[in-house]
Amino acid sequence: MNFLGKNHIGYQASAFGNHVFFGIDPRNNQPFETPFRQASPEEVDSALTKSQEAFETYRLIPIEKRVQFLKAVSEKLKANKEILIHWFCAESGLPKDRAEVEFARSCFQFEFYAKAVETGYALEIKLDPADPDRKPNPKPSLTKLNIPVGPVVVFGASNFPFAYSTLGGDVASALAAGCSVIVKAHAMHPHTSSISAHFILETAKEQDMPDGILCHLLAEDFTVGQQLVQDPRVKAVGFTGSIAGGMALQKLISERKEPISLYAEMGSSNPVTVTKNALEKRASEIGKQISASVLLNAGQFCTSPGLLFAEESANLNTFKEELIQAFLQSELQCMLHPGISKRYFERIEEHAALVDVIYAGKREGNFIQPTLAETTAANFLANPHIQEEIFGSYLTIVKCSDEVELSMCLQLLEGQLTNSLYAEADEINRFLPVLTAKSGRIIYNGVPTGVEVSFAQQHGGPFPSSLNSYFTSVGWDAIKRFQRPVTFQNFPQEFISKKVELNENVHFLHFLNGKYE
Ligand code: NAP
Repeated sequence: MNFLGKNHIGYQASAFGNHVFFGIDPRNNQPFETPFRQASPEEVDSALTKSQEAFETYRLIPIEKRVQFLKAVSEKLKANKEILIHWFCAESGLPKDRAEVEFARSCFQFEFYAKAVETGYALEIKLDPADPDRKPNPKPSLTKLNIPVGPVVVFGASNFPFAYSTLGGDVASALAAGCSVIVKAHAMHPHTSSISAHFILETAKEQDMPDGILCHLLAEDFTVGQQLVQDPRVKAVGFTGSIAGGMALQKLISERKEPISLYAEMGSSNPVTVTKNALEKRASEIGKQISASVLLNAGQFCTSPGLLFAEESANLNTFKEELIQAFLQSELQCMLHPGISKRYFERIEEHAALVDVIYAGKREGNFIQPTLAETTAANFLANPHIQEEIFGSYLTIVKCSDEVELSMCLQLLEGQLTNSLYAEADEINRFLPVLTAKSGRIIYNGVPTGVEVSFAQQHGGPFPSSLNSYFTSVGWDAIKRFQRPVTFQNFPQEFISKKVELNENVHFLHFLNGKYE
């Protein structure tokens, strides 16, 4: 592991920067041994050059080789699972069962996105044949398909050391799109990220992929990320993180001469609405589901539920009591990093000035129990920023006097990744219009945690949960973020007719990418 502590400028390990930082074990706040050297501005520049050169080669490589490479990455990861899981747990404090789930998801994503390309789905080929006899003017033949945009920068998130980091969906979908990728590793899990990059690069070498198809840059401060997004060689950015981080990057990007897309998946409070009828019939069952979701991995999910709207009733009181008991009896869980727990405690303090805390979770170092707060709808309506995300296990119940007040609260919500609705079937229509307007995904009688990687998934909601709600960061459509459509008009029929089967398709694409064989 002599690459540990160094940047990966393509296949080259590099460590010329002056700034050094260490990974931290959040269970005891002790730094790990290896010093990690932040990429210098010159190293960032070299990575950009290599990435651009690699893109020019990678985009011309036959599709089946790209597919084979993505599948091989998954196999390589599976063969090296142990060390990856070890560092995932050591650097994040997350339990092994969670690491296993995230690992399986990450391997699956590489295979799944390979399939999206292999089946032709991601290319979205549309054929409109010519009609030379059309009157009054002949119709040209048109073929439309997606091509890769160019080098992509990916920012990893602290809370998914695999699935939204170097092994994550943004990297897998950008590579599937045919783009080279520069990862700005998250400073909170440098071992996990560096080892992940090493295995992707090892596979790339074995598969004869161009040097620079992946670069992996270490950084503890924001300068590396800022240099990357402002560089004209970068053609798209994938970001998963806080609203503040996403907005800061957007500001920098807007100063570029050439505008590019920043696909920022940011925070969300994932409100849960529980109707009076649902509470009357299933208070206990709903209470168990909600408390388990709030508790999951100390609430460090973009889909963790942070707000709950319900009408006041005796059943709501019983429901609250159930939540308090579940939180009280829960084991303390480690947060990802001292920086994350510090921010969590600060946010709770700020929030306490606006709401009533009815169960204050215990704390020991970075270990926490959930906190439960409540407030009235009137207070929520007067202080809408109560809805802002608190990252970590924290739930605020908003008590509404009736359904009219509840609807007013929902109208006031900002855009969310998800909204959940616990209701009887004949009540759905009363809530659906407002929930649809506010969310990327709506869950009926269920909790928001758990994002299925599926071709039908939408992970990305209206602002501020995402910067661009037209796109998703999970599922086959994630690839579209890193492609752009091109129409080819009046190309000779022999190229068009070769498109019926995939292998023939590949020849066609070769031609369209400027290299006819
Ligand atoms: P973060 O602090 O915003 O960091 C994300 C990345 O952005 C890091 O690489 C960070 O660099 C970089 N960054 C942040 N601010 C920057 C700036 N001003 N300039 C340049 N780079 C900047 O977020 P996090 O703590 O990793 O993740 C927690 C947040 O992510 C939560 O709000 C959670 O809800 C959200 N999240 C959203 C999704 C989703 O799919 N929507 C998924 C997971 C998490 P450093 O490493 O140098 O700090």
